[in-house]
Amino acid sequence: MSAIALSPQVLAKYEPVIGLEVHVQLLTRTKAFCGCQNHFGSEPNTNICPVCLGLPGSLPVLNSQAVAFATLASLAINCEVRERSIFARKNYFYPDLPKGYQISQFDKPLAEHGWIDVPTADGKTKRIGITRLHMEEDAGKSIHDGFADSATRTYLDLNRCGTPLAEIVSEPDIRTPDEAFEYLTRLKEILLYCEVSDCNMEEGSLRCDANVSVRPWGQEKFGAKVEVKNVNSFRFVRAALEYEIERQIEVIESGGHISQETRLWNVAEGRTYSMRSKEQAHDYRYFPEPDLPPVIVSAEFLAATKKKLPELPEARRARMIAEYELASQDAFTLTAERAFADRFEAAARTARNPRRVANLLISELGGRLKALGLEQEQSPVSMAGVVHASDLLDEGKISSKQLKQLFDACFEKGEDFATVYEREKPRQITDTGAIEALIDEVIAANPKQVEQYRGGKKTLSAFFVGQVMKASKGQANPALLNELVVKKLEG
Ligand code: ADP
Ligand code: MG
Ligand code: ZN
Repeated sequence: MSAIALSPQVLAKYEPVIGLEVHVQLLTRTKAFCGCQNHFGSEPNTNICPVCLGLPGSLPVLNSQAVAFATLASLAINCEVRERSIFARKNYFYPDLPKGYQISQFDKPLAEHGWIDVPTADGKTKRIGITRLHMEEDAGKSIHDGFADSATRTYLDLNRCGTPLAEIVSEPDIRTPDEAFEYLTRLKEILLYCEVSDCNMEEGSLRCDANVSVRPWGQEKFGAKVEVKNVNSFRFVRAALEYEIERQIEVIESGGHISQETRLWNVAEGRTYSMRSKEQAHDYRYFPEPDLPPVIVSAEFLAATKKKLPELPEARRARMIAEYELASQDAFTLTAERAFADRFEAAARTARNPRRVANLLISELGGRLKALGLEQEQSPVSMAGVVHASDLLDEGKISSKQLKQLFDACFEKGEDFATVYEREKPRQITDTGAIEALIDEVIAANPKQVEQYRGGKKTLSAFFVGQVMKASKGQANPALLNELVVKKLEG
């Protein structure tokens, strides 16, 4: 990646400090201050009107759904919602901002003082403070390529003007690029659970600016921060931070000093470039928006919004770990998407052994999907199919080897589990005599293990079961086999 190569000893002298600013587009039907459709991918300049273009004489009217979504998100990230918040004009000139200002919030944002807990590498969690969540509107888009004359012209698509945004600003509590990645992942998960945004980074509905500085360990005062803009995936945020931390340390180590500036992440080169220094920083001349009254969030509205909060990912994981005896990592996998977690839980509750359903989903199904690069929705085996398979395993009607073969057949033929199972009804040896004969062979071939077993190493029964199962080509009835192996060994 970067061309910087500092020794681990030099890197270890400094502590990185990171704070993130995340913009999310809210999933309202119409825009923040007008009735235009809030829709990605429409023909350019078709969802526009005098209000979102800022034509003289037009007046904005606040979309109550935007407030409802922003309030829900604020509560989900543990913020205190202000009863009375104020819109402000943030003034700057840019071709994709025809109004010449953006309606935002400044010193009286919708919500403040929140936090989210993010898991750390050592299995604990770390609380990252959230400074504020405020509402604002998006700008339009400059299109620099894709047209025959793109070499000489830039086109404007103003459909995005006035799209409602929530900006979520973290405290400078983050200390490593991995922690930043984790914070973003958890934040996105929470917002998706709340269904306030689709958080689609490719379409720009979630965007992130990363602020980073370094300071010698032990120093209380923060170093000057650099803001990295234009980072459009969480992986790139991590990579940009890794690069920027090393760059800053190198500057300091070689006698220079870091001055506050804005830099851009260049994906192709894997490095950041200076965009503007503090001297060139904008003075936005914020002032209260005269065309909009204060936003009033009543106690009743707040209480009603609280009731709408879904069970959030972290709480859901804790509950599912307890309810289904899941491993922590499996709980993360199963709760990554709310709809999937819902489907899993609905199905698991009908199964004989929910934990087994979880295991099959993750190892057998998940493994196959991943190997083929398929999404969960493209799985030939349905959730009901996994429950069916799990129950058959649990009842000892199929062996795990047979289950693997059946799943393989499902993927080969693109058929669901029930179809394949009904057709192939795997043969099972349930004849006691036949299984006993196989056990005798295995016992005769492994005298040492028999001796160890009889000497007290009871766990070796699993070895014998495995050997006999193999000898039966996976066809021995597992329950019967277990029972007979123990009987023979003990006898
Ligand atoms: P600005 O006014 O330049 O936007 P803010 O004080 O609002 O700066 O902070 C923006 C973001 O930068 C926040 O997420 C904050 O946590 C983070 N931040 C502030 N100071 C530092 C610093 N010295 N190092 C790293 N991040 C910082
Ligand atoms: Mg900023
Ligand atoms: Zn409009």
